Amino acid sequence: MLCSQLFYPTLREVPSEADVVSHQWLLRAGFIRKTTSGVYTYLPLGYRVIKKIIEIVRQEMDRAGGQEVMMPVVQPAELWQQSGRWDVYGDEMWRLRDRHDRAYCLGPTHEEIITTLVNADVHSYRDLPLLLYQIQNKYRDEIRPRFGLMRGREFIMKDLYSFDVDYQGLQISYEKMREAYNRIYQRLQLSYRMVEADSGAIGGSASHEFMVLAETGESEIVYCDACEYAANVEKAVCNPAAGAAAEECGEMTTISTPGLRTINDLAEHMHIPAQEQVKTLFYSADHKLVAAVVRGDRELNEIKLKNALGCNELLMADEALVRETCGAGFGSLGPVGLSVPLYVDLEVPHMASLSCGCNRDNFHYTQVRYGRDFEATAVLDLRCAEAGDPCPHCEGHLLKMRGIEVGHIFQLGMKYSQALEATYLDKDGQQKPFVMGCYGIGVSRTMAAAVEQNNDADGIIWPMPLAPYHAIVVPVNANKAEQWEAAWKIYQQLQQLGVEVLLDDRDQRAGVKFKDADLIGIPLRITIGPKSLQEKQVELKKRWESDTHLISIDQVAAEVVAIVKQTSQVEIV
Ligand code: ATP
Ligand code: MG
Repeated sequence: MLCSQLFYPTLREVPSEADVVSHQWLLRAGFIRKTTSGVYTYLPLGYRVIKKIIEIVRQEMDRAGGQEVMMPVVQPAELWQQSGRWDVYGDEMWRLRDRHDRAYCLGPTHEEIITTLVNADVHSYRDLPLLLYQIQNKYRDEIRPRFGLMRGREFIMKDLYSFDVDYQGLQISYEKMREAYNRIYQRLQLSYRMVEADSGAIGGSASHEFMVLAETGESEIVYCDACEYAANVEKAVCNPAAGAAAEECGEMTTISTPGLRTINDLAEHMHIPAQEQVKTLFYSADHKLVAAVVRGDRELNEIKLKNALGCNELLMADEALVRETCGAGFGSLGPVGLSVPLYVDLEVPHMASLSCGCNRDNFHYTQVRYGRDFEATAVLDLRCAEAGDPCPHCEGHLLKMRGIEVGHIFQLGMKYSQALEATYLDKDGQQKPFVMGCYGIGVSRTMAAAVEQNNDADGIIWPMPLAPYHAIVVPVNANKAEQWEAAWKIYQQLQQLGVEVLLDDRDQRAGVKFKDADLIGIPLRITIGPKSLQEKQVELKKRWESDTHLISIDQVAAEVVAIVKQTSQVEIV
């Protein structure tokens, strides 16, 4: 491809709308353009990268026994009503009506469609297992679309669904997918980690996420410094340190705390360390008021609370309602004498003596003890894991880092097959629900995650398997016949050898051409200048290294082919 003909509108300035590095570079390098909030056009370079990701994903899905289909984006409301998700899915679902006023949605995911499809056409255990997938646009009206392709409202996803006769079969399908996902992220040359995950609104039991490691990631993960354990903090199990509650605790005492409302206020003015206080938080769980208690220096994990309550909607409670029910406003609330269901974190009963709000404005209690002064509806693991926590599996300790969730696999079990009455006939002639799994990869998010991990001050540094083109040939001065002819010859040789190559034929200064080649992140640059030609040599530069090498003009094509080959392949572990 000639650069003079390539549509890649690069920008000199950092666009103000771009909040993370990947978004900035993808806009500046002319890979994507925003159409409206969370909705993007992929320009030629961007779409080439997308197609490379898709091809790797497709090869691995096929290798694992998947068959590709294409399901509709438009989905009838009835299917979602049948599965019970039409009302649950909430505002994230794009809903629409046709001319007859029938309700539809734009598919945020495809469990309903695929389960109905398979139910209609798969009748016997002999036809199972069945693994079907598609690569398609998904629609989610995200509350906070941001970071460019990371959290779009229209985005590209690969979703595969597995159908098995039983849970043992599901285990096998799940394992195949886990392996396929590991192969995919290794082939994409991304630094990633597989972590235990919460199964969220999709439902089901076991689930793993694939996280590309990056400081800007929206997810927090913990991993053990000694064993293989790694989990999303949403899911990470917290085991309390035992023992403290054996100590003595004096009688519960009321103290006056005018104007002191936060954990920090109390720590600062009353000298009560945060870890000797508790926080009492109020939620509306499917419109029912509940309270949850964690140690003052901890963070409540809303996902754990929501799972424990089994509710569809968990919102912070309205302060007026809390005041009416409990007798005080936020900042003076506590677990003693409460009349609402109370959920207490595992750590709290281990606190020898604690301080908390009094349910009376401007007063707190000290020397409070769980079991003596208050009791819970249930004592549960409710807090967010933190760095330094003990590993739930070994003697090690947890470390924390951030990641971008690029893939998520779930064991759904019979959640959808039961709701949609999707069954097959087993060996004994009995109707049984399919046992299902679902497996997603954010294709467009993966492109952004790759840039987040591979860039420098000059632009993107594409790993070879993702690069829109492998190499770029740059004549320093395209108007000089000798340079132009040499460049053209190398360009043609490379094309014949199967290298995806650009030729920068633009009438631009060499500095501009180098800057653009760096910006768009082409892994290999071959520069043809006057000096190098006298000695029959050209310059070869790898985007990920700072120095250049001189190489004989006759050998450069073979060398480029060798580097492309070597850097495209990875050893899968
Ligand atoms: P998140 O927690 O980030 O919202 P999710 O749990 O809703 O993700 P899934 O329903 O498991 O995501 O979708 C599968 C994959 O699709 C995710 O792992 C992610 O890579 C991608 N994905 C999900 N939502 C978006 C989005 N709004 N924009 C881009 N990619 C997305
Ligand atoms: Mg989501």
